[in-house]
Amino acid sequence: MINTKDLHEGGIIRDPGNATTYKTGDWRTFVPQFIEENCIQCMFCWIYCPDTAIELDTSGDKPKVTGIIMDHCKGCGICAHECPPAKKGKSALVMVREEK
Ligand code: SF4
Ligand code: SF4
Repeated sequence: MINTKDLHEGGIIRDPGNATTYKTGDWRTFVPQFIEENCIQCMFCWIYCPDTAIELDTSGDKPKVTGIIMDHCKGCGICAHECPPAKKGKSALVMVREEK
């Protein structure tokens, strides 16, 4: 039984910077598929992803997108929406239904 006194008013998040502790990947129905050969490394997906779920390789001079961090991706599709069809009309991120 839920005690109403335990609920935070208005769903307030009291601990800032706690996103890494929540695995939001269980929520999604669709998942972005990363097609590396179509990626022009524009970083739009990384800028727009609300969950910082774009995986980067930061070992070189410039960061490089290498995939999606599935533990944190909610499947919202923003990254695929913003990913430009830059390689002969093909995008590097497309949304597909996730197989559970
Ligand atoms: S689907 Fe949404 S949460 Fe997942 S990587 Fe793309 S923008 Fe981020
Ligand atoms: S938005 Fe698309 S092309 Fe740009 S870095 Fe992300 S995956 Fe690559």
